[in-house]
Amino acid sequence: MKQLEDYPPVPISRGEGIWLYDFEGRRYLDAVSSWWVNLFGHCNPRINAALREQLEQIEHVMLAGFTHAPVIELSERLSRLTGLGHAFYGSDGASAVEIALKMSFHYWCNSGQPGKTEFVSLQNSYHGETLGALSVTDVALFKDTYAPLLRHSVQVPSPDWRLAEPGETPEQYALRAAESLENHLAKHHATTAAFIVEPLVQGAAGMGMYHPVYLKKAREICDRYGVHLIADEIAVGFGRTGTMFACEQAGVTADFICLSKGITGGYLPLSAVLTTDTIYAAFYDDATARGFLHSHSYTGNPLACRAALATLDIFEQDDVLAANRNKAAYCNRVAAPLRDHPRVRNFRNAGMIWAFEISDAPADFARRCYQRGLEAGLLLRPIGNTVYFMPPYVISEAEINWMMEVSYRLIDAV
Ligand SMILES: *Cc1c(COP(=O)(O)O)cnc(C)c1O
Repeated sequence: MKQLEDYPPVPISRGEGIWLYDFEGRRYLDAVSSWWVNLFGHCNPRINAALREQLEQIEHVMLAGFTHAPVIELSERLSRLTGLGHAFYGSDGASAVEIALKMSFHYWCNSGQPGKTEFVSLQNSYHGETLGALSVTDVALFKDTYAPLLRHSVQVPSPDWRLAEPGETPEQYALRAAESLENHLAKHHATTAAFIVEPLVQGAAGMGMYHPVYLKKAREICDRYGVHLIADEIAVGFGRTGTMFACEQAGVTADFICLSKGITGGYLPLSAVLTTDTIYAAFYDDATARGFLHSHSYTGNPLACRAALATLDIFEQDDVLAANRNKAAYCNRVAAPLRDHPRVRNFRNAGMIWAFEISDAPADFARRCYQRGLEAGLLLRPIGNTVYFMPPYVISEAEINWMMEVSYRLIDAV
């Protein structure tokens, strides 16, 4: 609150495509997709039109004992896309994580293994900030104050290749990290319900990227020891890493997939947890207490579901994944000078995410880079000394050029 006196929030009057406009007519290129949620630009005409149409039909109805067309169609389409046949809806990412954790534990209870109460996550993981989600998050700044309120959880070494030994390839390092997971589960599988992981990119850790072999191994290890695999695709789902879902790059299907952020194209809060027939069957019973008793007032909100359907339509109609491959290749060519900048380290890319570290960064680098960026009309939110680009997919080649040029100058200046 006190910092806002020196750095007042930027009042935004409107948005169009990848640009945000303030009240003085200045504009800012939203290079972080408004915290990783926006896919097809602000005020996208097609999503706007779908929402207007939905508004004339039904804005909201409870999903208990009732249903509606957008939630049915969305469930069917998500099921086709993920290969998981059952969906449970929440309102944001953290609630999706809570749902997956509770459902995993409850599955084991219903299956006669009530001792499986523990959760395992990766070092430097981020899964949201409600108490259950924060318990499996590993970011000290967000977690330490609330430690007395949190459940114990275990963190195993992250496969993030920035942590590899000199000379070790990302793949070798990922395999070594997978051995640590195996060692942990070999000892503790009887008390472990699930392993939760951000597939391919640990976003809040500063876009830490890792080799897909880790997910392949994690799937094998979880199967061997009877532990659920929860894929937190909240940040990486919907094409961010190049495939519709990041797990596809490892040929892996999780027991639970958590989706949110880009699911509505960045329009409205919505999350979904997709799961398997096996999990579903364990809750299918006459006894109410064996059912999954978890509810949110706005679960399956029709407007949010309709925005999600319009988002999926754009993926299909514009063959977005193929278009993004070309855009990413272009961006990598244009980024060459930045990659070769003497202060840039660990330049990396996955799909529509780019990240690098700045060497000799001053202590307040993130804030200064953010401020200088805004002055130049570029919205960047560095994490520590990590600068990243996660633009809406509608960014044009000219806008990519401009983003790279401004960033190069920023790095010289901050
Ligand atoms: C953002 C995020 C969450 C939390 O989502 P909210 O909607 O902010 O609660 C959880 N997991 C990952 C990987 C995220 O990036």
